[in-house]
Amino acid sequence: MDKRKQAQLKQLPGVDRILEYGARDRLFDDIPKTVLLPAIRGVIEALRGRILESEAPVDDGCFSKATLVAEVKQRACKTTALKLKRTVNATGVVVHTNLGRSLLAPAVLDQLTTISSRYSNLEFDLEKGQRGSRYSTVEDILCELTGARAAMVVNNNAAAVLLCLDTLATGREVIVSRGELVEIGGAFRIPDVMAKSGAILKEVGTTNRTHPRDYENAIGEQTGLLLKAHTSNYSIVGFTAAVSLADLVSIGRRHHLPVMEDLGSGTLVDFSKYGLDKEPTVQESLAAGVDVVTFSGDKLLGGPQTGIILGDTSHIDRIKANPLTRALRIDKMTLAALEGTLRLYRDEQQAVQQVPTLRMLTTPLTVIRAQAAALKSRLEGLPGRTLTVELLDYSSKAGGGSLPMLDLPSCCAGVTVDGISANAVELWMRSHTPPIIGRIENGRFIMDPRTLQEEELDIIVKAFADMLAHGTERR
Ligand SMILES: *Cc1c(COP(=O)(O)O)cnc(C)c1O
Repeated sequence: MDKRKQAQLKQLPGVDRILEYGARDRLFDDIPKTVLLPAIRGVIEALRGRILESEAPVDDGCFSKATLVAEVKQRACKTTALKLKRTVNATGVVVHTNLGRSLLAPAVLDQLTTISSRYSNLEFDLEKGQRGSRYSTVEDILCELTGARAAMVVNNNAAAVLLCLDTLATGREVIVSRGELVEIGGAFRIPDVMAKSGAILKEVGTTNRTHPRDYENAIGEQTGLLLKAHTSNYSIVGFTAAVSLADLVSIGRRHHLPVMEDLGSGTLVDFSKYGLDKEPTVQESLAAGVDVVTFSGDKLLGGPQTGIILGDTSHIDRIKANPLTRALRIDKMTLAALEGTLRLYRDEQQAVQQVPTLRMLTTPLTVIRAQAAALKSRLEGLPGRTLTVELLDYSSKAGGGSLPMLDLPSCCAGVTVDGISANAVELWMRSHTPPIIGRIENGRFIMDPRTLQEEELDIIVKAFADMLAHGTERR
């Protein structure tokens, strides 16, 4: 090894020395002990690595007290910063599972804060002065809004499906069409959930066509349940046939078998009224006579993460009595947010305006175009390098396993910056505080205004201003 490198390795400070640097001027006083020592070791190791790897000797400045203290502080900051961060969604995917799915309506937030920071009647019946049910606060409104006889709420829709199968069909056969054996991102697969519940999957029909007689022929001694799963993230097109829920219900009635539907996205609003694709509504499933229907709280409903189970009283009572419910139960924050969201649905217009998921899905193209144009003029007005924004007629997506074939016409801003690659722009935006998530298409950084919230245009403009002023090398 080269002499200079050896000398520099010898010169590496130890933990005690750096601690002393900091202690003298109380520079590390605000860093927790559990964070400080690993940060110091990290700085020493990084410096050792640089000495060993670089051709030339490292700059002497790296060994200065000021540099070492600053690096320790920077590392400590990174460790103590919150890991779950607010993020700007410029992807145009409204129910984006990786970015937190639905946003709660502002009207819900006060109640959420109060219920989580104060005692509440979570499981206390205020009229009787004794223990009450955790679910009673949302049961009535769920029945009122949907026409269901009874309701139950668990942690998410996957839990709802598991709980229903475990209650209604464990040890027995569940008949499902081959075309409906769905997999939802994050490894929710109907056959796997079925296996966990102890129910036995009996597939009928073919991938593209299933007929009433397929169900009829499969029904036997062992049959416990007929299941319909909404193909919420794909669509089978061409030469197809599926058995409608109403027909499945009449088959079930004839054979005295319960019929369950996993709706997945589960909307209370008929989207076709707003010029979007028709998505089956919860009310329609219940009106068709389904015994049990399950859906997510944080997809098209636009509430907190939950799984909602609706149906007739006898089945819901059995489901409530299953010991698994205790393991799958929701907490008070979820309950507060769910009740607050459901209340908005008493007036559909109000729900469409205030529930962010519904508002974003129904934002008119003219509004989005105006936002994209505003973004273009503000970004192109920034000083520094040449930045070009093109307005592109790309589509937004509903996402989250909902409205699968739906392309929502949108208007996106596609940015190119002289001398900075689209990849570097994307990385800079993703590393920004708060992170800004867009996508790259044809060498441009694409942002869709549909999923931007109030004041987020300002955040984006400021991030670009910083990037143009400093270049992207800083990080
Ligand atoms: C999304 C979805 C699920 C899973 O719901 P989570 O609330 O994410 O657990 C199950 N079934 C269908 C059909 C879905 O679309």
